[in-house]
Amino acid sequence: MNTTTLVDFPSHDPATGEVIARFRNSSKEEVDAAVSRARASTQAWQALGFNGRKKILVAWDAVLTKRLEELAALVARETGKPLSDATLEISLAIGHLDWAAKNASKYLSPVSRNPGLIMANMKARVERAPYGVVGVIGPWNYPVFTPMGSIAYSLAAGNTVVFKPSEYTPGVGEWLGETFAEVAPFPDIFQVVTGLASTGEALTSSQIDKIAFTGSTRTAKRVAAAAGERMIPTVLECGGKDPVIIDKDANIKKAAEFALWLAMSNAGQTCIGAERVYVHHEVADHFIREIGAMAAEIHPGVNKNYGPATMPSQLNIIQSHIDDAAAKGAKFLIGGTDSVQPPYVQPTIMLDVPEDSLAITDETFGPTLTINRVHDMDEAIRLANATKYGLGASVWSRRNGEKIASKLVTGMVSINSVIGFAGIATVPFGGVKDSGYGRIHGPEGLHEFTYLRSVVSERFALPIAFTTFKRTKFADRFITSVMKFLH
Ligand code: NDP
Repeated sequence: MNTTTLVDFPSHDPATGEVIARFRNSSKEEVDAAVSRARASTQAWQALGFNGRKKILVAWDAVLTKRLEELAALVARETGKPLSDATLEISLAIGHLDWAAKNASKYLSPVSRNPGLIMANMKARVERAPYGVVGVIGPWNYPVFTPMGSIAYSLAAGNTVVFKPSEYTPGVGEWLGETFAEVAPFPDIFQVVTGLASTGEALTSSQIDKIAFTGSTRTAKRVAAAAGERMIPTVLECGGKDPVIIDKDANIKKAAEFALWLAMSNAGQTCIGAERVYVHHEVADHFIREIGAMAAEIHPGVNKNYGPATMPSQLNIIQSHIDDAAAKGAKFLIGGTDSVQPPYVQPTIMLDVPEDSLAITDETFGPTLTINRVHDMDEAIRLANATKYGLGASVWSRRNGEKIASKLVTGMVSINSVIGFAGIATVPFGGVKDSGYGRIHGPEGLHEFTYLRSVVSERFALPIAFTTFKRTKFADRFITSVMKFLH
C-alpha cells in the first residue's frame, strides 16, 4: 500500500478493533510547511529567554495536571492500557516537563572558562545554543511519557518542535498540540503532524536541525541514515532486552514481585521492561516458586493487570519467540505456545531457555519472561551483556549490587529496584549498542538539544601579538621560553 496517497487514517481501540477517530495523513508538503512555520517562530521563542519559556511550559504543565484524567482516558483508549497505568505514565511526564522548564536556565546558561596563562589577556566562555527546529518521532507504548522526554527538553532549551506521534496514538499527539496552543504566546512553537510512516519519513528528510526518535532499532537506523545525508544530529531511543540479575543474597520475594511487574506491565510493551532473568542456581527454585505463584494471579483484559497488544502485528513476533523457545527445548512455568489469544497475550514465563533462542536474542515486546539459572554472578554478567541491546538492567543483591551493576554494558541500571531511572528527572535516560545513543532527561537531556559555542574576547591588548603576520622574533623567543618554563 502506498501510504503517502492516503488522505487520512483511523485510530483503533486495540481491545475491540473499533475505530475511535480519523486523523490527517500529513503529506510531505504539509510537513515541510509545518517545519517552515516552526523556523519562523524560533527567534521569538528564543527571545523569551529561559524565564519566559519557563512560564509557558509551567502553564502547559498545569493544564496537563488539571486535565490529567481526560488525557489518561485518551491514552487508555488508544493504547488499551489500564487507566491506572495511563495515569502513572502522565504523572511521570508532568514531572519531567516541570523539571526541564525549571532547570534549563541552571544547566544551559553560559559558563566561564579559564583562558590559561598564555592567553591571560582573553576571556572565554562556553554557550549552549538551541539547534533551531527539532523533529520528534514518538512511539505508541508510552505516547505521553516517551516523546515528552524530547519535547519538553527541546522547548526548554529554546528550540521549536514538530512532533509526529505514532499512527496508533495520533489522538494523544493532537491533544498535546492543542493544549500547548492554549498556553502559547504565539503559534507554531510546538506543532503536531499526524500520519503514517511516510509522514515520519517526510519529517526526517525535512529542513529540521535535529531529530529525536523513539521506536524500533530497524527504523532508527533508517532515521539515522536520512539524518546522516543532511548531517543533522540524532538522539535515538530504541528497544532493549533488559536483564534482571538475581544473586544468592537477594530479597527473593521482592525480586520476584518486581521482576514480574517489570516483565508483564503494559503487556510487556516497555523498552526498559524485563525480558530475561539470570538467577543464581542456589536461589533459583525459590525465585521460580515465588514468581510462578504471583504470575498465576495476573490477567490481561480491560482494566485488568494489563491490556491488549497495542499494535496487532506484534502478536506474530511474540508467537514466533514463544514457538522458537519451545522448539529449542524451553519449559513453561506459566503460559505456553497457546498464550497468544488476540488481542491479548497471557502471562508467559519460560525456563531454561537456550541462549540462541529468539526469546533471548531479540526484543519480544510482550508479557513474556525467560528465566535461566547461572553458576555465579560472573556468568550472569556475561550472559546479560551477550546481547546486541544495552538499554536498562535490574540487579538484586544485598551486598554485591554495585559491583554487578558496574560491569553491565547498559545505559541505565536499578539496584534492588526496577526502572527507578525513568522516574527520576535528574538522571539521563538512554542506551548503548542497538538500544541507541544520545540522552533524554536530566541535565544531559537538556544538553542534548543544544550545540556548544565557544566565545572568546580580548580583555586587554598585549604588548606582543602572536596571531598576525607582524609577529616578531622576540615573540617567537618569548613563546618558546614560556612553554619550556611551563612544561
Ligand atoms: P517503528 O520504529 O516503526 O515506529 C516508531 C515511530 O517511527 C512511529 O511514530 C512510526 O510511525 C515512525 N516511523 C515508521 N517508519 C518511519 C520512517 N521510515 N521514518 C521515520 N519515522 C518512521 O516501531 P513500530 O511502532 O512499528 O514498532 C515495532 C517495534 O519497535 C516493536 O515491536 C518494538 O519492538 C519496538 N518499539 C520500541 C519502542 C521503544 O520504546 N523503544 C516503542 C515502540 C516500538 P508509524 O507509527 O506511523 O509507523
